[in-house]
Amino acid sequence: MRKKSVSPETIKTISTLFVAIIFMIIVLPLSSIYTKHMLKNAENKYFDNMETILDGYSSIVTLQLQNYKNSLDAFYVKHIFETEDENEITNFLVTYKYKMNKEFTFIYFLTPSGKAYTTEGTTIQMNKEKHTALIGEPELYISNLGKVPGTDNYTFCIEETIRAKDGRIIGVLGASISINDFINDNINIKLGNKESFMIIDRDGYFLMHQRKEIIGTTFAPDAPAYSNFASINLAKSGPGTFTTKADNGDIVYIMTHKIPETGWTIGLKISLSEIEAIYKPQKKSSLQIVFVSILVIILLVLVEGWIVSLIQKKQLIATVYDPLTNLWTRQRFEIEAAKMIRFSPRSKFMLIEADIRGFKFLNQNYGEEAADKVILYYSQMLNKWISEFKSIIGRGFADHFYILIKITSVHRAMNTFKEKMDELDDYLKSYEIPFFPKFGISFLMPGEASRGITIQGLIGQASFAKSTIKDNMLTQYSVYNSRLLEKINEERFIEEHMQQALDSKEFFVMYQPKISLADERIVGAEALVRWNSPKLGLMTPDKFIPLFERNGFITKLDFFVYEEVFKFLQARLIKGETVVPVSVNMSRNHNKPEKFMHDFLEIFNKYSIPPELVQVEILERSVMDSNTLQDITNKLHKEGFTVAMDDFGSGESSLNMLTKIPVDVLKFDREFLNSSTNSNGEIDSKSAKFIHILIDLSKNLEKQTVFEGVETQAQRDFLRSIECDQAQGFFYSKPLSEQDFIQFIKLHS
Ligand code: C2E
Ligand code: CA
Ligand code: CA
Repeated sequence: MRKKSVSPETIKTISTLFVAIIFMIIVLPLSSIYTKHMLKNAENKYFDNMETILDGYSSIVTLQLQNYKNSLDAFYVKHIFETEDENEITNFLVTYKYKMNKEFTFIYFLTPSGKAYTTEGTTIQMNKEKHTALIGEPELYISNLGKVPGTDNYTFCIEETIRAKDGRIIGVLGASISINDFINDNINIKLGNKESFMIIDRDGYFLMHQRKEIIGTTFAPDAPAYSNFASINLAKSGPGTFTTKADNGDIVYIMTHKIPETGWTIGLKISLSEIEAIYKPQKKSSLQIVFVSILVIILLVLVEGWIVSLIQKKQLIATVYDPLTNLWTRQRFEIEAAKMIRFSPRSKFMLIEADIRGFKFLNQNYGEEAADKVILYYSQMLNKWISEFKSIIGRGFADHFYILIKITSVHRAMNTFKEKMDELDDYLKSYEIPFFPKFGISFLMPGEASRGITIQGLIGQASFAKSTIKDNMLTQYSVYNSRLLEKINEERFIEEHMQQALDSKEFFVMYQPKISLADERIVGAEALVRWNSPKLGLMTPDKFIPLFERNGFITKLDFFVYEEVFKFLQARLIKGETVVPVSVNMSRNHNKPEKFMHDFLEIFNKYSIPPELVQVEILERSVMDSNTLQDITNKLHKEGFTVAMDDFGSGESSLNMLTKIPVDVLKFDREFLNSSTNSNGEIDSKSAKFIHILIDLSKNLEKQTVFEGVETQAQRDFLRSIECDQAQGFFYSKPLSEQDFIQFIKLHS
């Protein structure tokens, strides 16, 4: 009745997984791409900035050099120098020294011969090869680094070519500048700790470096891999950005520019750790992205959970109430019942599973709509029925209802149940389509719940009890007890062991004598099977034959009994002892005369016994129709066997059949004597008359008459008085073992 739907938990799990997967597929790579992009951007920006700074710095240096040139130009007085008079020039230099730019150590005039006159009044001999301004290439010359002899000071020179009116080079005007002054006063830009500027001259000597001691020297990294980036090489290569190893072992970037007119290289050293310092905030922001994403996911899952719970609630409404009856569904009933039991651990409970007998039939014959109405009516009656108790009710599949009632005692509950059941029955019978209820009942005793008996278990027990009711119209309810289960278990055991029991001869035959009423002598016997099971003990057929009839094993057992009987008879005959005819039972399952005869004869022919010694008892109420019965009887007759009709009178068509079926013997059912004998053991006269007529009728039809279940002398006397032929029953003998039977024959022949 209930539609099968995916459980909300499954939906939730799947969708959460789905969201997580979507997250991993989309958000994580995106954020990592984004982060990488950001970092790259930041790095680029950083380098751009550094480039700008380097540019600016290089401009400052250029400007400063320009400034020096201007100072030098200002110092140059054309008519003095054009005199080419060394004395005059020397005087001028010394006299106007005070006009000299403060950053110059001194100014000098260098003549083509290599002699230089200074503002200090001294004359120095210079290497004229080095001062190329002397030949005008270039006109403005800025030297490499040089060391002032006898000091730790480094200097460089700026020199300009001086020409006469006719353009002839008459010398060079130059200025010596101390590196310390050059750096400290002009280019004193402080950067972060990790970055530093450097200037190297054309030969790779440091004019400027963070560490003063490097100034005036060259530097080459220890690691051969970085040898290209030694200062000598940097001085020669064009501008660019290089990775190398600093003198302290750090990996660094060096970004270089060339300072115009000087051939010097200005460099900016950036250590990797400085770059990492930029990364850090970026990494932080990527962490933030992940963090925010996780937050978003949690939010999504929460929202999703909320939506799912909404759906769930909607579904729940469907699963809580059964739409037809408005009662709780079985699921909800189970939940509520479990609660009820949990809250009263010391109470006793009665669980009833109710349904309608033959509901399927009702459904098919009256239609679904009418059947639904029946269910609705039934539910209302049941609901009313239990309303005065502390109880709950729910509906399961189709016509199944579940009721849990809190009770005070099992005995009282059962009494009330029976009273109420009759009442309910009347209501149901008077409905437009009369129907009959069926109940399975189980009880829960205090403490059983804590021993693991659940509401589902309880329902299972009630269900099981109900299933044992079967077709019996007189039983309307069944109470679960462990014996019921034992019976089922026993049947299972029997089914599992029957074949093996047959193979290992656990079955054996007993013989119950048949006595001639005329002379009290034994005239025959019936073979009755027994099972001696090592596990279940000695069993009479009522324990296993109904089961064997259901599962078909009875036909095998029948043939086993026949063979045992034939064996017994043959053994007696060989020994020359007295024998009586023995009747064997043919179960109702044999319904193919051909096959039965074939199998029967196959066994029979293994032995040499006259067929007259064998009688076959066929049940009146067997599944065979009268034609088949007739057929098999004829076939048995043809082979010389006699045939008895067993349990004659128990069926409905007994009298009809009498004339049709050519049996030799009528074995009157035990019930004849049972029902006509009163508590004093006397035969009721009305019944007596009826039996008398039947015996007379049988005699007229030339049938022998045998009565079963003769237990008392009164019964025996009565049968004798109406001239019944034979009697079988406890009055003469119970079924006997082979040995006892042999004795019996000896005594009663
Ligand atoms: P049945 O064929 O009517 O067998 C007679 C039953 O009545 C036997 O029960 C016997 O023990 C019992 N009986 C005999 N005298 C009296 C008496 O004075 N009072 C009472 N109350 N009962 C008496 P048993 O041996 O338990 O067999 C029960 C049934 O099992 C048989 O009823 C028969 O239908 C079936 N059965 C027994 N053996 C076989 C067999 O080998 N094959 C088949 N197919 N069925 C068998
Ligand atoms: Ca029988
Ligand atoms: Ca019988």
